[in-house]
Amino acid sequence: MFDGKGLIDRLGKAASELRGRLVPNTAMERVTWLRAGGPAELLFQPLDEDDLRLFLRALPADVPLSVIGVGSNLLVRDGGLSGAVVRLSAKGFGQQEMAGENRIIAGAISPDKHIAGFAMDQGIGGFAFMYGIPGSLGGALAMNAGAHGTEISERVVEIYGMNRKGETVTIPREAMRYGYRSAAVPKGVIFTGALLEGFARERSVIRDEMEAVRHHRETVQPVQEKTGGSTFKNPDGQSAWRLIDEAGCRGLMIGGAQMSPMHCNFMINRGNASAYDLEYLGETVRERVYNHSGILLEWEIRRVGRFLAGRDIYEFVPQDLD
Ligand SMILES: Cc1cc2nc3c(=O)[nH]c(=O)nc-3n(C[C@H](O)[C@H](O)[C@H](O)COP(=O)(O)OP(=O)(O)OC[C@H]3O[C@@H](n4cnc5c(N)ncnc54)[C@H](O)[C@@H]3O)c2cc1C
Repeated sequence: MFDGKGLIDRLGKAASELRGRLVPNTAMERVTWLRAGGPAELLFQPLDEDDLRLFLRALPADVPLSVIGVGSNLLVRDGGLSGAVVRLSAKGFGQQEMAGENRIIAGAISPDKHIAGFAMDQGIGGFAFMYGIPGSLGGALAMNAGAHGTEISERVVEIYGMNRKGETVTIPREAMRYGYRSAAVPKGVIFTGALLEGFARERSVIRDEMEAVRHHRETVQPVQEKTGGSTFKNPDGQSAWRLIDEAGCRGLMIGGAQMSPMHCNFMINRGNASAYDLEYLGETVRERVYNHSGILLEWEIRRVGRFLAGRDIYEFVPQDLD
């Protein structure tokens, strides 16, 4: 049983000293872009680094801890998230400022779109791709978000964060061992910001690049829908959407979940999908694509949290690879 109020009690004196919002049993379906899933046992929104430190130092070691950005790449299962979930506040972690020539320091909850806009205002190139990604910088750093041939890892100089003990840490880019939509995020570290570097570029050129990004998004992606973006990673040399299409899964529906008819690697919630429907749909697609092409798709959307009792979903494992 979730007991968010009990977790607040376990923070002791710190609970009354924290300045950020502590909310027990928060509905994650209001937070994630897919608009589905169970509650977080205790959500904490630190106002600034001191607040985050106080919280982490007070949090008992046996309480699970997770961090979310703006939830644009998350599928929270219907049984919800146990323990404490940190979501940085825009007030303390949403700023961007110059940090030397073509360098920007940005807070980890800065929307990618704001970073692209800030870079354009400063005449710094290399960030226009972020204009079309609806996540935050923290999520981009953890996912190695990318689009239009550029990934955030190409812009990172170093990352700032806080570990479970409340100590500040600096992570050089190399330590993240970035790959395609993958990163070696140090265990228990919450990113608080990063130093990013671009290159000098005419503002008018950047504006055109951003406009091209916007146009592309609006014409090929279901951006008005409840979605988590690309459901699966592109396998080496292949497009996930093409494999899904060829396996006959464009528009496939399970309960209220559907593979978008517009962009069939985007999963959408038609209004009343449970996380169960969404994950079941994803596993069905993985199975059908494998049976059709022999290629096993890997989830890009992060699935987190617990299943509801009796509603577990088993990951598709091909018999011939067993
Ligand atoms: C319409 C749409 C289009 C999209 N297009 C793209 C695209 O073109 N390219 C692309 O790469 N992605 C795309 N995405 C997916 C998503 O926007 C990115 O993965 C984004 O980087 C996730 O950021 P977030 O803040 O939403 O993170 P969340 O979804 O909240 O979290 C994602 C992961 O990041 C971790 N995380 C978040 N913040 C922190 C932090 N401060 N410290 C440590 N870890 C953290 C979380 O623990 C989680 O594991 C799209 C999504 C949608 C809905």
